[in-house]
Amino acid sequence: MNDELTVKCPVCGSDFNLEEELEENDIINCSVCDAELEVLKTNPPKFAQLTYDDIIDELEDDDDWEDDFWEDDEEDFDDDDF
Ligand SMILES: [Zn+2]
Repeated sequence: MNDELTVKCPVCGSDFNLEEELEENDIINCSVCDAELEVLKTNPPKFAQLTYDDIIDELEDDDDWEDDFWEDDEEDFDDDDF
């Protein structure tokens, strides 16, 4: 039995082997061009390239509390001024 799966990178077009089983929504790296790929479907395998913007968006989503913090702070400041 050979569990290795050969997939095609949509970014560089190279075939590369995956040692792990594919799962939907997993993030994998192309072993050739190192692109970050999100697994959309497993059978047949389909990938979407994650851009740096996508990654930064996800990081910013985690920081929503910080926006609220600064908004509240500005409001308080205005109240003290007037
Ligand atoms: Zn690639």
